[in-house]
Amino acid sequence: MVQKGPRPLVLCGPSGSGKSTLLKRLLKEFPDKFGFSVSHTTRSPRPGEKDGVHYHFTTKDDMVAAIQRGEFLETANFSGNMYGTSKHAVDEVRRTGKICILDIEIEGVKQVKTTDLDPLLVFVMPPSIEELERRLRARNTEHEEALKKRLETAKREIEYGKEPENFHIIILNDNLDKAYTELREFIAQNVEDKEEGTESNDSK
Ligand code: ADP
Ligand code: 5GP
Repeated sequence: MVQKGPRPLVLCGPSGSGKSTLLKRLLKEFPDKFGFSVSHTTRSPRPGEKDGVHYHFTTKDDMVAAIQRGEFLETANFSGNMYGTSKHAVDEVRRTGKICILDIEIEGVKQVKTTDLDPLLVFVMPPSIEELERRLRARNTEHEEALKKRLETAKREIEYGKEPENFHIIILNDNLDKAYTELREFIAQNVEDKEEGTESNDSK
């Protein structure tokens, strides 16, 4: 059972669009207000990534078994690996009363839309595919083949993300400070207002 609490926030967008950068800044500025939903993944950790902090790193067999036990809210295959949000990950944040932030791709977004999580949906849009490629290359976390795969997926994700009915807000990350300010304002107007008891009447 997923605990009730403030409305969760979903950050979605192509790999390299800036989701982790934005949410890291948010968690640093407001550590008492936001909590990160730690996903499971079968991909290998990148340098600096810690098990249980950035992800729960797991194996395909363990993840499939946990899915069969009904432990996940949503799951997806992305670039050859499995990813998923466990019910426990969201509960852990929500029981602290913090706003739960999920960083998930579009197949996961489609699934959480069918649950009673009722999240606010943010799409982080890169300025262009060319700039996305530059940022991914500069991040230097993927091998060439994996990078190409992510860029191919990015084109489909951008198509889905730019449809206004799919997300509550599309934030263009052409400038980090501007994108962060926009995200903060969106949260202040939507998540925090709702905590005061305002009813939501949208149907995304
Ligand atoms: P995601 O989590 O969406 O995969 P990241 O947050 O890791 O993306 O960002 C990808 C790379 O782009 C990182 O190296 C980050 O520092 C850089 N980056 C993020 N936003 C901007 C921006 N507005 N301008 C330039 N570089 C950016
Ligand atoms: P990365 O390997 O770069 O950390 O993540 C790749 C993609 O997987 C990103 O688009 C990220 O948002 C997505 N992702 C991370 N965790 C989850 C999850 O739990 N569920 C889903 N559906 N996607 C996730």
